[in-house]
Amino acid sequence: MNTQDYVLLDESYGAHNYHPLDVVIERGEGVWVYDVEGKKYLDCLSAYSAVNQGHCHPRILKSMIEQASKVTLTSRAFRNDQMGLFLKELCEFTGYEMALPMNTGAEAVETAIKAARKWGYQVKGIAENRAQIIVANGNFHGRTTTVVSFSTEDQYRKDFGPFTPGFLAVEYGNIEALKAAITPDTAAILLEPIQGEGGVIIPPEGYLKAVRALCDEHNILFIADEIQSGLGRSGARFACDHEGVRPDMVILGKALSGGFYPVSAVVADEPVLGLFKPGDHGSTFAGNPLGAAVAREALKVLQEENLIERSRELGEYLKSELEKIDSPVIDFVRGKGLWIGLVLKEPARPYCEALREMGILCKETHVNVIRIAPPLVVEKDELELIVHHFRQVLQST
Ligand code: PLP
Repeated sequence: MNTQDYVLLDESYGAHNYHPLDVVIERGEGVWVYDVEGKKYLDCLSAYSAVNQGHCHPRILKSMIEQASKVTLTSRAFRNDQMGLFLKELCEFTGYEMALPMNTGAEAVETAIKAARKWGYQVKGIAENRAQIIVANGNFHGRTTTVVSFSTEDQYRKDFGPFTPGFLAVEYGNIEALKAAITPDTAAILLEPIQGEGGVIIPPEGYLKAVRALCDEHNILFIADEIQSGLGRSGARFACDHEGVRPDMVILGKALSGGFYPVSAVVADEPVLGLFKPGDHGSTFAGNPLGAAVAREALKVLQEENLIERSRELGEYLKSELEKIDSPVIDFVRGKGLWIGLVLKEPARPYCEALREMGILCKETHVNVIRIAPPLVVEKDELELIVHHFRQVLQST
């Protein structure tokens, strides 16, 4: 079978809820992926930052195979010997007292919302069914019906209503707008510290600190969705670390398992996560020993291979090299760590297609932005290759 055969299968039997580039990947190793025709590509998306540790990292692979041959799923009806160790190591890494494991990012966001509402009623004393959560315009927190209820993207909501009430969206990066939206019923402010799907949008310096202060002043929980921005992508452990801010809850996913298995989690202190009682929340696969073993190793790889520092140093280099490209098509370059948004003055898709032909895999986000986020194991000469091909594509117009 060739590429077109696989594309035809997808299009014939799959719902058309994505518009992928027509490259059919059959193998990956580190920053490289290989298609069914044997062509090699440098991955500049990292599965939306889920494979920060690189494709098929040998250490994570080993832990997965070892655990898969022992026990994979116990459900939370029983205990297993991996989950507690995973949660302990996650708490030590993040500096929080408790963690609640889930599977996908959107599920973890839902979990944080439930925790915040419970805290709002039981601790803050908000009247029943009145709790409000403030979010930001341009947010992306997943695709469940509650989460799209507070999306500000028309397509994400169109024909999916009725929506879950209790959310209010204000301008991202504008502290005055946040301030004005607060009422006594505000239980939480939920933000991406850098908006990834929005196109790697970085709020003004000091914004996260000001959000923290506002939350302290009004007894509101600050929830940071670090599903994409966390675990090294922005050149820090968490994007909030850049401003020395400690949110009340942090939501993690994606690279928590190095791309091997869906593992997400919410971390917070006992006064928040301690409010959950048996029966309040759960999922059949959440906390399973296979995911826990994989995530334990993925976290170790992140730390022991210094991937966070690599992201910071190599990210600065990549950004400065991209800024040197002299092209009438480029509007500007923004980013932090190995997470760059190249904002074009025209639609980015044709450039992503041209880059694919050159063996570089990128995906447009929000029509005119190319997000560049290679696995954090990328080497400097591979970044040079990326810049070389970007220069070729952007200067050939
Ligand atoms: N939150 C953020 C910030 C994300 O970037 C994403 C996915 O891109 C999600 C939540 C949803 O995660 P998932 O696709 O695993 O449900």
